[in-house]
Amino acid sequence: MSTNIHTSWDHEVDVVVVGAGAGGMAGALTAHIEGCKVLLVEKTDRVGGSTAVSGGAVWAPLNSQTEAAGHPDSFDKVWTYLRNTVGDAAPASMQRAYLQASAKAVDYLDHHTEVKLVARSYSPDYYPDRDGAAMGGRSLDPCMFDGRLLGARFRELRDPLPEFTVLGGMMITMTDAKHLLAVTKSLVSWKEGMKLVLRYFSDRLRGYHRGTRVVLGNALAARLFKSVIDKGIEYWLSTPLQRIEVEDGRVTGVTLMRNGRPFRVRARAGVIMASGGFPWSAELRKALYPKPTGAWSLSPRANAGEGIDLACQAGAALGTGHAHAAFWAPVSIRKRPDGSEQLYPHLVWDRAKPGLMAVNQAGLRFVNESTSYHEFVLAMYRSHEKVPTFPAYLVCDHAFMEQWGLGLALPGGRPRQHLIDDGYLYRAPTLNALAELLGIDATGLQSSAEDFNRAADLGVDAAFGKGSTAYNRYLGDAAHAPNPCLGPLRQGPFYAVKVYAGDIGTACGIRCNENAQALDASGQVVPGLYAAGNDMHSVMGGQYPAPGITLGPALTFGWIAGQHLAQRAR
Ligand SMILES: Cc1cc2nc3c(=O)[nH]c(=O)nc-3n(C[C@H](O)[C@H](O)[C@H](O)COP(=O)(O)OP(=O)(O)OC[C@H]3O[C@@H](n4cnc5c(N)ncnc54)[C@H](O)[C@@H]3O)c2cc1C
Repeated sequence: MSTNIHTSWDHEVDVVVVGAGAGGMAGALTAHIEGCKVLLVEKTDRVGGSTAVSGGAVWAPLNSQTEAAGHPDSFDKVWTYLRNTVGDAAPASMQRAYLQASAKAVDYLDHHTEVKLVARSYSPDYYPDRDGAAMGGRSLDPCMFDGRLLGARFRELRDPLPEFTVLGGMMITMTDAKHLLAVTKSLVSWKEGMKLVLRYFSDRLRGYHRGTRVVLGNALAARLFKSVIDKGIEYWLSTPLQRIEVEDGRVTGVTLMRNGRPFRVRARAGVIMASGGFPWSAELRKALYPKPTGAWSLSPRANAGEGIDLACQAGAALGTGHAHAAFWAPVSIRKRPDGSEQLYPHLVWDRAKPGLMAVNQAGLRFVNESTSYHEFVLAMYRSHEKVPTFPAYLVCDHAFMEQWGLGLALPGGRPRQHLIDDGYLYRAPTLNALAELLGIDATGLQSSAEDFNRAADLGVDAAFGKGSTAYNRYLGDAAHAPNPCLGPLRQGPFYAVKVYAGDIGTACGIRCNENAQALDASGQVVPGLYAAGNDMHSVMGGQYPAPGITLGPALTFGWIAGQHLAQRAR
């Protein structure tokens, strides 16, 4: 445990918040609104962390919009669902605390800040056939944000993943993407597409480095950031945490690296750790992830786990009992000609569409391709126990490619030769030739495709159930019958990309109680130390029951920490 022997401080506040993502900014805003003097510190020169590059879905069951969204819900129903999905992978007391607070946190932020969320009217939980599941209302999306409202500080907001933008910086949602793909087929889509593109070009002409119509997780980060600015909360960029100061067993402040020198800040009430977990700590990954693993995270590289390390040095313990150490997502990786890597997350766009099949090195299917990203990777690990499945291969035919695209390869006749030249995308005239190119079993691939095509004709995938749940079909092609997720691979050229076990953040973190207070190995509170977001051991225990199950808890436990600290400060 690090013990402070100095008495002098360079600065003094009630609450120091480490990390400017969803957890940190929710904590900072709440503590400030409740009367605390708050300092928010951020390691990078941008606000937003993985929150800013995320899809932005927030799972907050029993929120005040649920019923209006058409899905009356109850505590018992959600509780049943959590027991059927998370079970004992996280303490029941933490799950209960989350369920009791998430709606309150969302309402509080809505009332006091610029954080405005809208409940989805249709968005099935990821295991819609389990008892307690809902078809909508529980997940909320951030409302679109006008980046121009941030003025010059728009540049201080982390940019979204380039994969969530088109035309070099125009953010799009799934609905926008559908309109853009249909501009030549529908007047409504043409109008919507024109609106988007005109707004984008006018932004660029005005000198913005990207489009100012901000959506998804970037809108959530922008809204939190705008609130931080409006409330006058002190925030310091490029200021990493170096050490957590402890006196007589109590956290009393932090040492930061500011302008190239150590800077000591006293935190009279306490410190909230919200530095976004450890997806880029090779050491912790090696210790806590299953094998094989690699540098496949979609989170920003600054989320390197020092926060968790330093909290442990200050007396906190890592949580245990979780089912999985990370939240998984299959990623394909493009090596650019300059040697840098571009990771594409196969989250919700291509896998569930009709005509895409996933196989292992034996050329055999191993998964329901339209399952959640988390389940897809778990299936990769299971398959790998018998047949090499790292990488796995997403395979489609030409018609699929033209309609939907595959990973970084865009649909509609857009150029893709550069991706083939880079070794990202594989193309061959026949499935046999494709198998040879990929170095996988050709007979296996051929017979998998034949079975898959038969299932597509029937509309029933007896082997893996592609398109068998409401969640699968939600991400399929509604216009495709009889099964929105099942279509054949018939006409070459055939295409494939390799996918690996990426993550969208870590689930294993600092052990905490219902007040978001950090606990030591014996379960005792480490006085003055709190955690939120992915620094906190996941209340979902590394399971992924629904869209928004990391941002929901990040906002909620940030809010809880802020409230608890404010009580202490009072
Ligand atoms: C592509 C993608 C899509 C996703 N979609 C969703 C979704 O739709 N819904 C959902 O619930 N989750 C989603 N996630 C996961 C979600 O983004 C994260 O779980 C969540 O943003 C974590 O929030 P946080 O506040 O813990 O961390 P972050 O938002 O990552 O913020 C942490 C901040 O701490 C800073 N920091 C790191 N170390 C230090 C240090 N030593 N000192 C000071 N600051 C430090 C970082 O730079 C960062 O800015 C997605 C993730 C990705 C990558």
